[in-house]
Amino acid sequence: MRRSPATHRISLLLPALVLLLLAGCSKSGPRPTSTASDFREDDGKLKVATTVAPLTSIVQSVGGSRIRVRGLIPDGVDSHTYEPRPSDAEILSRADLLIMNGAHLEGTTEAIAKANLKDPSKIYRLAENTLSGDDPQDGFLYDFSFPKEGGAPNPHLWMDPLYAAKYADLVRQWLSADDPANAGYYRANYERFASVLQQLDEAIRKDQESVPVANRKLLTYHDSWAYWARRYGWKVIGAAQPSDFSEPSAKDVGALIAQIKQEQVPAVFGSEVFPSKTLETIAKESGAVFEDQLRDDAPPGKPGEARHTYVGMLVEDMKVLFTRLGGSADAVLKVPVVNTAAD
Ligand SMILES: [Zn+2]
Repeated sequence: MRRSPATHRISLLLPALVLLLLAGCSKSGPRPTSTASDFREDDGKLKVATTVAPLTSIVQSVGGSRIRVRGLIPDGVDSHTYEPRPSDAEILSRADLLIMNGAHLEGTTEAIAKANLKDPSKIYRLAENTLSGDDPQDGFLYDFSFPKEGGAPNPHLWMDPLYAAKYADLVRQWLSADDPANAGYYRANYERFASVLQQLDEAIRKDQESVPVANRKLLTYHDSWAYWARRYGWKVIGAAQPSDFSEPSAKDVGALIAQIKQEQVPAVFGSEVFPSKTLETIAKESGAVFEDQLRDDAPPGKPGEARHTYVGMLVEDMKVLFTRLGGSADAVLKVPVVNTAAD
């Protein structure tokens, strides 16, 4: 079942905190990896809640040491089907703002935020504010796991580093509006971060030339490469995961195997968030190599490590992608994976 729009659930979620506590639906599992607090301290810093880890990393790159950031969706958890926990409502009740992806990625989190934020108008959406809508090459995409008839576009804009730079600029504007005293600091951080993203974009363009043209096509388990592919002129030939995030049917699997054989795709890609036996089977039956280390939600490494960031994630993804498809990642591997925010 596809998640119903968040608005349908709002009446059920009021008061969200009480309801969640009564339901006792706290889930065990990975803890959020943000090293930030749960916003109990009051040191005058802006308290910014975010959702998935790549967005948390982008926000942290702009806000640096002058904000407190808390990512609500733990690493390794499927953001598309994530159900907020009672602790999320508590954290949101202390947050000054919520910066989320939007584009239907975080359905129920938004309802919880509306019910709990001190100022419910401070919910900011990155995806909707990134796409201009004027340019047909710059609009939302609907595809395999996000078909138009489902009503929810592919939400993974952040996989394109130039959209990530737009995300960072929006973050800069929103933080500055709430905390004008630090606007210059946020701007300087944004500019350093955007310059790394620019380098990353140029390195991707350079390295992809080393991938044989016939291999510049992607078949992934999770359908998160649509905007990246549009930016760099690649073709996403399929995504195994159905639009309701269940496992694909035997018929779907058969069709994908036939397609891989026909298009002679050398490798198919899974991710650590969506381990899929199905994709492994598809690869085995079709003769393609199966690679399960692409990431879109959970940066590699551990909190505190430089690679546990948005840029670290993209660099490692590019290495996996280009080398598995017959090219090299020499330029991408020279992109500095460092904390660019000032102290
Ligand atoms: Zn996703």
